[in-house]
Amino acid sequence: MEKHDINETIVAISTPPGESGIGIVRISGKKALAVTERVFIAKDGSKPADFKSYTIHYGWIVKDNKVIDEVILTVMRSPRSYTKEDIVEINCHGGIVALRAVLDLVLENGCRLAEPGEFTKRAFLNGRIDLAQAEAVLEIIRAKTDSALKIGIEQLKGGLSLKINKLHRELSDLLLVTEANIDFPEEEIGTFDLKILACKLKNVNDELVSILQSCRHARVMREGVRAVICGKPNVGKSSLLNALLKQERSIVTAVAGTTRDTIEEIIDIKGIPVRIVDTAGILEPRDLIEKKAVERSRRSIELADLVLLLFDGSRELSGEDKLLMRRLHRKTIIAVINKMDLRQKIEREKILKKFKNTVEISAKKFKNVNLLEDMIAGLVYGGKVSLGEMMLTSNLRHIQAIRQTQKFVAGALDSLDNKVPLEFIAQDIREALEYLDDLLGKKFSGDLLDKIFSHFCIGK
Ligand code: GDP
Repeated sequence: MEKHDINETIVAISTPPGESGIGIVRISGKKALAVTERVFIAKDGSKPADFKSYTIHYGWIVKDNKVIDEVILTVMRSPRSYTKEDIVEINCHGGIVALRAVLDLVLENGCRLAEPGEFTKRAFLNGRIDLAQAEAVLEIIRAKTDSALKIGIEQLKGGLSLKINKLHRELSDLLLVTEANIDFPEEEIGTFDLKILACKLKNVNDELVSILQSCRHARVMREGVRAVICGKPNVGKSSLLNALLKQERSIVTAVAGTTRDTIEEIIDIKGIPVRIVDTAGILEPRDLIEKKAVERSRRSIELADLVLLLFDGSRELSGEDKLLMRRLHRKTIIAVINKMDLRQKIEREKILKKFKNTVEISAKKFKNVNLLEDMIAGLVYGGKVSLGEMMLTSNLRHIQAIRQTQKFVAGALDSLDNKVPLEFIAQDIREALEYLDDLLGKKFSGDLLDKIFSHFCIGK
């Protein structure tokens, strides 16, 4: 990616393309107000150079004496703005033509187009937020569920950064003590202090382990739980998927074996993203395509966290049903007796006896689908995971950095136990600290920044 000068003033359309009530063109940098002066006429005749921070102004964007749009300007002066630079946001009428015209005019008057994520990158480079917080902005933009949003907001508020900074301070102190003891071993650091060192290192280690635990939950919330719908042909798998999606997605027909392949969708069940895979019925494959589909279904079931095993309530249990009941015994299963709207012929007791979690529904008539959703959510939460503790981060880069830190802290503890010379312990602590530095962006490479910010949209 081309490297741009942070001293330039940047501009971008910050709202999504398409028709909308308003659209925002955002300018950030030293010349933000000067550029605004060239394109904006205030109704009350005031000049942008005199605009105070956190004020709004009504007027027009004008080019060659022609009005391009009627707008409201918001001014946030340095350093109290998103980027810590002067920011002007032009609230235009939505609609891509008006927005483009305003953007073009601002570009002609001394700004350059912002790179993806450049506003947030500046917030980071100017020290308003750390790297973990900058990444949180991306998580918030991308959040598809309430929980993913909560994780992002918590991270942006600095929940993770606070904890990591605290651990950083503690490890730095421990490094100092350790190094002092290497340099001046006779100066009374002695055995007693080694015990304190071990104790403090253990506290840091415990804290890291608990953060990692919370990250695992956060990851589930973001990546989702894999649930597979399976059952013999025509039992109502596609209908159930549709009922869960509440929209037509896979083709539902009365011919056996229509769902030839697996179809994957993510749905939000009580804030948990659930990846639902609708598998081809496990039938005797008749051709190569079906064979592959059956093979894929088998693999989906192996990978699944949860299996929804469907039965047709209007029929007696068939050989295929029984085969599935036997095969799937080790997975977390919800037995779903479908077609409850029809006269029931199925041997219910057999299913109730075999499966702890059973629910009767009608996928076609949308009956009891909510009960099934409750059951899925209940199984995922397991009644144990509280929402508060899972909100630190779900970002893989953070998790890897924390994991490495913990590895080195555990290594240092081990070395202390085994009376390894203090030089090695100090080295372990130093390595641990480096991973924390990475996480917070205290030391960073241009490549890392490019990689992180290239995932942002332009205008953020
Ligand atoms: P799949 O082969 O397992 O994916 O089954 P489909 O979802 O394609 O459904 C097969 C047939 O059963 C279709 O004609 C559906 O309309 C019907 N069906 C599915 N669920 C129900 C239900 O709850 N009640 C009734 N009466 N019919 C259903």
